[in-house]
Amino acid sequence: MVKESKLYDVLGVSVTATEVEIKKAYRVGALKYHPDKNPGNVEAEAKFKEISMAYEVLSNDQKRAAYDNFGEAGLGGGADGGMGGGSAEELFSHFFGGGGGMGGMGGMFGGGQPQGPRRSRDIVHAVSVTLEDLFRGKTSKMALKKTVLCNGCDGIGGKAGSVNKCETCKGQGFKFVTRQMGPMLQRYQTKCNDCNGEGEIIDPKDRCKDCNGRKTKEERKVLEVNIDKGMVNGQKITFSGEGDQGPDIIPGDVVFVLDEQPHARFVRRGDDLYYHAKIDLNTALTGGSFMIEHLEKEEWIKVEIIPGEIISHGTTKVVEGKGMPSYRHQVHGNLFIQFEVEFPASGSLNEETLQQLSALLPAKPALPSVPESVHVDDVVLADVDPLKHRGAMGGDDEMDMDEDGPGGAQGVQCASQ
Ligand SMILES: [Zn+2]
Ligand SMILES: [Zn+2]
Repeated sequence: MVKESKLYDVLGVSVTATEVEIKKAYRVGALKYHPDKNPGNVEAEAKFKEISMAYEVLSNDQKRAAYDNFGEAGLGGGADGGMGGGSAEELFSHFFGGGGGMGGMGGMFGGGQPQGPRRSRDIVHAVSVTLEDLFRGKTSKMALKKTVLCNGCDGIGGKAGSVNKCETCKGQGFKFVTRQMGPMLQRYQTKCNDCNGEGEIIDPKDRCKDCNGRKTKEERKVLEVNIDKGMVNGQKITFSGEGDQGPDIIPGDVVFVLDEQPHARFVRRGDDLYYHAKIDLNTALTGGSFMIEHLEKEEWIKVEIIPGEIISHGTTKVVEGKGMPSYRHQVHGNLFIQFEVEFPASGSLNEETLQQLSALLPAKPALPSVPESVHVDDVVLADVDPLKHRGAMGGDDEMDMDEDGPGGAQGVQCASQ
């Protein structure tokens, strides 16, 4: 449903014409009526200006939408009067690539901000996504409630012609009242009671049954949100014009904002992943393998520690190309692995094993020799009791990857130095 069709008629296209059809119609008309081809022909010149202006509106999505919804009134400063003499020429040049430059497009509708229709607010939703979603890509169906124009009355509120401007307030919805306050005359604005502030009156018998004259309805709409591989936390996916509809309102957008959930195994920084690996002392010293469940469905990676490599506690290593895919180019970042070496539990090794181990490992460093005069006090270690030894705890969390966000990742950096 369009409000007016004049501009379409000028180009000789239907109101449902595609961009290409409109362009073609303009091209044909412009070639026919161009002043260069019709020297001195005033009628042709007027026609040329007319089709140029129609094209200027209908070739621009926003202007076309405004025109469809509100007619020429929706275009702001007077579509008929605003044509400057040179504008059509310039548009023509622009269109056919002739001389004369690109200027002048803005001046067509005269100066001033067009007092266009209101735009409804954008509807913003957070979409919770896992790291797996962002690694693999995903389509989420999101349902939302929105206000749409009533299709029973096309958003008019009643049968055609049954909606009349309120006489009392001249369609304003409010009126001014003057009141005597003692010696003063007070003038104030108040809601028009005759139309209940609507500015128009619908005959009750012609009122739309579907919306009871409200012109709009609530509708449940399902949108398919494509989450592309490599998208990031906070990234927006916009559905233009899917916002609330209303009479004399240009619908706003529906915007989905990705909300990346913390992951149990990985911390993401840009396209890189960080993983905290616990390995046993034997593997750290003599080599071996361990497994990491990756983000691709049913995909694990097997990491090999080459014998002789020896992984120290706190070391960070990297597996190249096993990070996140980048959003645009799908090039994978890296996977950083921070190692925690698990030592045998206290008391778990017997004396014989300890002696064998000691014989195999590099020799222990000798104690410094001190002069006889120095008193050496023999002491033993005790376990730290947080209550008894307050202040001793706290520096122990450098390996703690369970903390969300940069805390864990910072530990990785420190450890790699
Ligand atoms: Zn209705
Ligand atoms: Zn009224």
